[in-house]
Amino acid sequence: MSEKSADGPLVRRIEDSDEENWSNNDGLIVRWWTLLSKDRTPSSGLTAGIAEIPVDAVAPERGHSHDQNEIYFILEGEGTLHTKTGKKHVIKGDAIFLPGGEEHHITNTGLETLKLLYVFDTDSFDDVEYVPPCP
Ligand SMILES: [Zn+2]
Repeated sequence: MSEKSADGPLVRRIEDSDEENWSNNDGLIVRWWTLLSKDRTPSSGLTAGIAEIPVDAVAPERGHSHDQNEIYFILEGEGTLHTKTGKKHVIKGDAIFLPGGEEHHITNTGLETLKLLYVFDTDSFDDVEYVPPCP
């Protein structure tokens, strides 16, 4: 497991985290690993993790919103970002700012797993209330 460091730098990797996921009756929507979150790591101010959307993932009918601002950084693959201003093709290397309160979601449109880093401007993943609640 991760090293505990009360007030110094902290290094975390996927192997330090348990996989979490959202699925519905049709299958997997997204899986993710929380890397930094005050309820689990000696960190504060920011919450971050890695999410994966497989090629055959179930695309949600609608997006979600939450009060926190969020950043996505696409690590692998490509997809479509859905927001109130429309759809945008996104690829590896793209950084995306998502203002708090605005509905959004991302779908995989490529031939490989879409993998992204997400960051919230809050202490803990527990602070993030998804609207509507995801399955
Ligand atoms: Zn979000």
